[in-house]
Amino acid sequence: MASQNRKPDISNSNQFNKEPKTKNKIIYAILVTILSAIALITGRYSVSESEENQTTQQDQAVTLADAEFQVHVIDVGQGDSILICADGETMLIDAAESKSGTKILDYLASRNVTQLDYAAATHMHADHIGSFSKVLEQIRPAHVIEPIFSDSVTPTTKTYEKYLDAVEATGAEYTAMQAGDSFTLGNAQITVLAPVDESAKDLNNTSLVFRIQYDDIVCLFTGDMEVQEEKTILENPENQGLLKATFLKAGHHGSDTSSSEDFLAQVQPEYVAVSCGVNNKYGHPAQSTLDHLAVWTDQIYITAQQGDIVFYYDKDTKSSHIMASGKES
Ligand SMILES: [Zn+2]
Repeated sequence: MASQNRKPDISNSNQFNKEPKTKNKIIYAILVTILSAIALITGRYSVSESEENQTTQQDQAVTLADAEFQVHVIDVGQGDSILICADGETMLIDAAESKSGTKILDYLASRNVTQLDYAAATHMHADHIGSFSKVLEQIRPAHVIEPIFSDSVTPTTKTYEKYLDAVEATGAEYTAMQAGDSFTLGNAQITVLAPVDESAKDLNNTSLVFRIQYDDIVCLFTGDMEVQEEKTILENPENQGLLKATFLKAGHHGSDTSSSEDFLAQVQPEYVAVSCGVNNKYGHPAQSTLDHLAVWTDQIYITAQQGDIVFYYDKDTKSSHIMASGKES
């Protein structure tokens, strides 16, 4: 896990640092903004790979190891698997398709994660629970979380059976959660925003949606939530004023079924991660969704294009950062 005792040196902060300290950096930031706008207009959503790799190296040297709160959107192809680290405690949200088990385990090992405080399955589709059997066999979680859902949408797939067997074998505390439930991860406060009840007619709209508050920032993790479930969140008076988020994991792999303009108008994300596979058969992410997201931010990262995505927050400087590994081939 991240070392907590070394004060971060922000003298080499780059375009991802929200609070440049010198005039040169302000000018640099303006130039980067202009270049980003040009990239956005021409359909490119990030810096080139060589620039990106430089950024990765700078950020890693400067602050990632010191960041108390980290979100790792692991590049698992067409699926989701997200590692959250808060003050040394860890949570894995989803475990992608069954073929991604080695990738997830290797990634966790690279972050020195040898145990999980929470393993959360947002919903019971194979691209979210497929590798839990392999991952949980190696890394035992203290708690397993899944959403409430009705018998009518309960899957009959082999993948689901394997997931159930794997969860049982861990002996972990198991909880089915719904809107209003909450728990902590280190100093992060995690609240479940959805599902509100068991009325969803399809699995995507049973997705657990997590609001994670850490110090001054809020992150939203939305599984494969579609517009129907977004509406239940927007209509819940208890969520009034709580949806604005620094970081958003876009729902359903950036599909046009999700990230409605109404929802985004409340979230107003500053950083967005989209998890999807290269040339996936669903056409994720939808250009219309990217356009809706681009109303709020030009910091849109897509695993299919940029590999593993890391968002992190440094409490000492109260600064947020995002970076990507770049694709290997
Ligand atoms: Zn999915």
